[in-house]
Amino acid sequence: MEAADFIWRNGKMVAWDEARVHVMSHALHYGSSVFEGVRSYSTPQGRVVFRLREHIRRLFDSAKIYRMKIPYSQEEMCQACRDIIQINQLQHAYIRPLVFMGVGSLALGGLQDCKTEVAVAAYEFGAYLGQQGIEDGIDACVSSWTRPTSASVPALAKAGGHYLNAQLICTEANRNGYLEGISVSGQGLVSEGSGENIFVIRDGKIYTPPLASSILGGITRDAVMKIATTLGYTVAEESIPREVLYIADEIFLTGTAAEVTPVKSVDQLDVGEGKPGPITQAIQEVFFGLFDGSQADQWGWLDRVESTTP
Ligand code: PMP
Repeated sequence: MEAADFIWRNGKMVAWDEARVHVMSHALHYGSSVFEGVRSYSTPQGRVVFRLREHIRRLFDSAKIYRMKIPYSQEEMCQACRDIIQINQLQHAYIRPLVFMGVGSLALGGLQDCKTEVAVAAYEFGAYLGQQGIEDGIDACVSSWTRPTSASVPALAKAGGHYLNAQLICTEANRNGYLEGISVSGQGLVSEGSGENIFVIRDGKIYTPPLASSILGGITRDAVMKIATTLGYTVAEESIPREVLYIADEIFLTGTAAEVTPVKSVDQLDVGEGKPGPITQAIQEVFFGLFDGSQADQWGWLDRVESTTP
């Protein structure tokens, strides 16, 4: 990660190195934080943030699920995201809004006694799974770690503590030579990548696990479903048994960081011909075309950084 100059911290811009936390912060001990990952792009029409309002809405949803109160409005948080891009003069950036329970109590039920800390950081960011991954596809494996069920962890909340499970999935995959791990539920049904949603294609039809499969309701997932439908494909939200990963014609992962990344093998079995397939490529063309100016923003997903500040 490349440090930027400033971080937005509780309403003020502070120097990157000054954005410190106290060791007795509740979140550091118990994972009591909620956050977002948002991307900005430099386009021929200026700098834009992709689906900013949807990300900030999900931040507030995550906070509500954990009964945290964010002392700013959604519009104030959106503005902080635009401001952090401008003040740091970033072009292609990853924006990280974060709400965490600070100092005040170490009681598990003591959230109301903790200071609610809010920050928005951003830094220049390239392709999370590599430019080669976007072009040629990545090698993935099915993780030995399963996703916790919604009975124990509310997967729709993007909360810090949830990412311990994601770290186990990702680091195990990396240690074994794969770029990403795909998790399944306790029942062996496909859930998602450690930081991405998953799409599987067979016989021209696109499948993705439903929200009830312990997944995060990805904003890129939603975008891809809309793009695919507009292109005339059928997208079904259906439970996917693990072995479908081995007989799929195409698989790709979606996420703010991963964007639209094809999977070329799962557990050392080629997906289709072992390279990105035609449907994946058609979706990639529209998705990335939004940012290079070759596709019109027909869905209203691009939030301009510049036009909103005097
Ligand atoms: N699942 C998990 C666990 C994630 O961390 C992410 C990244 N936020 C996603 C899916 C993809 O979500 P989005 O497209 O909103 O970034």
